[in-house]
Amino acid sequence: MRSAKRNGKAGNAPAPAEPTTVILCFEPGAGPEAARRALKALGLPGVPDNRSRWFEPGLLTIRADGAVPREIQERLAALPGVRRVSAMPAGHRLVTHAFARADAAVALAGGAAVGDGTLTLIAGPCSVESKSQICGIAAQVKAAGARVLRGGVFKPRTSPYSFGGIAERGLEFLACAREKTGLPFVTEALDASQFDLVARYADMIQIGSRNMSNFPLLFKAGAHPAGKPILLKRGFFSTVEEYLDAAEYVLLGRMLAGADRPGLILCERGIRTFETSTRFTLDVAAIPILQECSRLPVIADPSHAAGNRKWVPHLARAAAAAGADGLIIEVHTRPDRAWCDGDQTITPEQLRVLMGEMTALAPFVPAPRGSA
Ligand code: PEP
Ligand code: MN
Repeated sequence: MRSAKRNGKAGNAPAPAEPTTVILCFEPGAGPEAARRALKALGLPGVPDNRSRWFEPGLLTIRADGAVPREIQERLAALPGVRRVSAMPAGHRLVTHAFARADAAVALAGGAAVGDGTLTLIAGPCSVESKSQICGIAAQVKAAGARVLRGGVFKPRTSPYSFGGIAERGLEFLACAREKTGLPFVTEALDASQFDLVARYADMIQIGSRNMSNFPLLFKAGAHPAGKPILLKRGFFSTVEEYLDAAEYVLLGRMLAGADRPGLILCERGIRTFETSTRFTLDVAAIPILQECSRLPVIADPSHAAGNRKWVPHLARAAAAAGADGLIIEVHTRPDRAWCDGDQTITPEQLRVLMGEMTALAPFVPAPRGSA
């Protein structure tokens, strides 16, 4: 349609066919020689140019003119070193078209799931401080209805002089809290060099807002052999379209790893606008829009959006009402003493009250068990 219109002046000349994106995954170690053969099979110069892109260690994307018939796709698939071939109209994304919504639900240890039709609560401190701190908070957020524990050990801080997290020791403490409570946990990796370590401990790996445009990291996260689910937060400087493209990098990595499920959760955590009365502006509309434009579960982070604990319940309720698949909320027994983000952190008791309110709002919210 689009090209017919663009070429409307051409009279009866047939409109050129829409270009196609071809994605080729190679066997480990296949190398650029295998990529050259694939390009030649499509009649392209044997060296990647601006129509094709090579991702280490073995994925090639090609923008081919027009449709790529099944016979050619089969020929590509039969080339030495080629493991998988996919094709879709250029401009489409895997994130929208490649899988069913049911396959996008993320199952975690302890029966927790995100994207299964319930509102999944992820809660815990901004940062892990000590074993007793995280174990105590884990038990209390669990009692308030949390299914997943959060806690940062590698913290992305705007100032190099701010507390940066307690690193591997914190992962051990999180594992201990999981052992005691049965709650799986999510924690952030800041760069690819931390992935092996974090994946060894964590049930889910967070890529934070500031790293949403770290494209090599996104691809490596998706391709990581541990295959741990990724929680990708929206860049506070990013449009929905840019966010979907970021998710696409993760899914290309997943494809290279041979995964049949995306294992990816999106998180609306507020964007920067001219408004300064909150830390960021929670883009509530982005929740249903991202759900419609992707097959992925979409959760919301009212804590980082609000920046002030007073507004966290309001934003949490708004996100739940908008249909979020989950919430990630910062909780600490002593928010005034939290090492990071105390102003936006609520207590376990406040979390329990909030979850009670949300049960009325959305009957599928798990009811709080016992009191904190
Ligand atoms: C966090 O979850 O602790 C965090 C730093 O979030 P964001 O990347 O959304 O700022
Ligand atoms: Mn925080």
